[in-house]
Amino acid sequence: MISLSSIRARRALIFGVTGQDGSYLASSLLEKGYVVWGTSRVNSESTLDNLRRLNLIGRLNLLTVEPTDIESVQRAFSEAEPDEVYYLSGQSSVAISFQRPAETLQSNAIGLLNVLEAGRLSSRAVRIYNAGSSEIYGDTGKQEATESTPFNPCSPYGVAKLSAYWLVKHYRNAHQIYACTGILFNHESPLRPERFVTQKIIRAVKKISEGSMDRLTLGRTDIIRDWGWAPEYVEGMWAMLQLDEPVDLIIATGESHSLGEFISHAFAILGLDWQRYIVEDLSLSRPTDLIVSRANPSKALGILGWAPTVRMHRVIELMLKDL
Ligand code: NDP
Repeated sequence: MISLSSIRARRALIFGVTGQDGSYLASSLLEKGYVVWGTSRVNSESTLDNLRRLNLIGRLNLLTVEPTDIESVQRAFSEAEPDEVYYLSGQSSVAISFQRPAETLQSNAIGLLNVLEAGRLSSRAVRIYNAGSSEIYGDTGKQEATESTPFNPCSPYGVAKLSAYWLVKHYRNAHQIYACTGILFNHESPLRPERFVTQKIIRAVKKISEGSMDRLTLGRTDIIRDWGWAPEYVEGMWAMLQLDEPVDLIIATGESHSLGEFISHAFAILGLDWQRYIVEDLSLSRPTDLIVSRANPSKALGILGWAPTVRMHRVIELMLKDL
């Protein structure tokens, strides 16, 4: 008979636990009964605000790890002895990637490479999830991207994410390790940092409604994106690591809207006419901005038993409510 004490709780190691997705994922895994380890960098400017906000301090094991240093990554593996590893760490802004291309490539691709290598050398069977991005497709135009759409990244961030995608494929094929990439389309929440346009808009709407701000200047507002709800997307990540065989999948809602629609709905919720407050400044656009990003997540919906329920309008309402 197996004694209960010999049944080991599943262990998860999350690289980038202080970020939006890392925090929601840690919360979800703790609820599922996992022992959770999370990493933050050695010289990180990040704070533990997200972990505090979700009441996670003291409930997970925090490790100081520099993902671009293989020894640091291996120490994290030795300490956590993970069954599942989630690589969510990395410079995550497309805009900043034009200013800091090397850091973007190193943190997204070399950091992941070190995790794959640690997984390959591990004596335990480890499952590895990589946070991929819709930016690997570039502009999708009228077509929705599927897992077989050709890649055409248009930013250092997109190139870094595509490198990471190929590294995962290579380790899966060459070393037969369980590794997969979730190709994530945009997903938002109150934990989204203000350097992202969605949170910038939400905070501005609130301030304008309170009278402490009078206008918001933005780049193009005709860009089209598929916006989902971050707490649901981390469930998609987890579901991917529960499949018998690793597979790369698009995680998205399948519904796209313009940034203009996002703005007008956010202002309308507080009874404001957005046209009085938004100034469009095209000089703020990036050198190779993608205009349209559309997704077809039907493969994931078919095999994961996961389906997003929160669409853009509700995302905005939830972000405003929990600002
Ligand atoms: P965040 O930016 O909120 O979190 C990423 C974490 O990575 C940070 O908290 C930071 O933690 C760590 N990090 C490591 N290296 C760097 C670096 N050089 N610069 C900045 N931060 C770094 O990202 P999200 O939680 O939103 O996203 C998680 C992953 O999913 C990322 O890889 C992102 O690119 C990807 N993704 C996200 C999408 C979205 O819409 N949110 C869409 C598509 C992909 P610390 O400082 O503590 O080390």
